[in-house]
Amino acid sequence: MNIPIKINSDNCRGCRRCEMACSWQENGMINPKNAGIKIHILDEVGKHLPVLNQQCYEAFCGKEPKEAAGQGIPSCVFACAFDALTMGDTDDNQNESIENEGGMNHA
Ligand code: SF4
Ligand code: SF4
Repeated sequence: MNIPIKINSDNCRGCRRCEMACSWQENGMINPKNAGIKIHILDEVGKHLPVLNQQCYEAFCGKEPKEAAGQGIPSCVFACAFDALTMGDTDDNQNESIENEGGMNHA
């Protein structure tokens, strides 16, 4: 995996800006169903968990915001205002486990 997107779910507010930004870059429409990231609601522990598609880690998706063109920052990361998504080092643990986190539902 080459794209070091780092998730810190403790910072996630469930705003879903990441989903909106990704889907907008996909086809100019805001539809979270078309996003490469999903925000799960973990009811039993009262938190949100962002989960990226595996492909998002394997190669840069090319969805760059105009404001950060050429920097290699995907739109989902750029859209996150709470540092729940950041760019880390390539050897970082890139995704958090959803095991043992309680019930999981899409937001
Ligand atoms: S990861 Fe960031 S942008 Fe996405 S829902 Fe959480 S706080 Fe919002
Ligand atoms: S890495 Fe790209 S495809 Fe994956 S969620 Fe972020 S913007 Fe969407």
